Amino acid sequence: MASSIKKLGKRKRIALVAHDHKKIDLIDWATYNKEVLARHELFATGTTGKLLEEALDRPVKKLLSGPLGGDQQIGSMIATGDIDVMIFFWDPMEAQPHDSDVKALLRLCVAWNIPMACDRSSADFLMTSPFMHEEYEAAIPDYSHYLTRKIAADE
Ligand code: PGA
Repeated sequence: MASSIKKLGKRKRIALVAHDHKKIDLIDWATYNKEVLARHELFATGTTGKLLEEALDRPVKKLLSGPLGGDQQIGSMIATGDIDVMIFFWDPMEAQPHDSDVKALLRLCVAWNIPMACDRSSADFLMTSPFMHEEYEAAIPDYSHYLTRKIAADE
């Protein structure tokens, strides 16, 4: 599939989301990476964002709480090219009331070629990548074939 290029700046727009039983883990990870995260712009679902602001003592752009539409707001920003990196500590041990939103967010990250970490070690690998701190040319998947597909008329 041919694709176009999206130039990411040195300062990345990072979205952070953690399910309730993963929030302490994410806050701990973010605190440990406070200096590195200071070089980037942070977005988060409501409750995660509030905890991050307190722990990092810096502003975080807070969206709605995840189950109340925050996951979908981040998904929408991914689709419009306004998020560069996703850190999503989802809980593999507990069913979520907003499971459909969780799946949709995971799907959109892949659909739009967004680097995503869903656990602490993946987040460490992502944060220590040189691409995190340099400009980067990310491929945007080409959906023109899909967008121009023929729709059969009803018979
Ligand atoms: P929250 O949302 O940060 O508002 O708790 C997280 C989630 O999407 O479950």
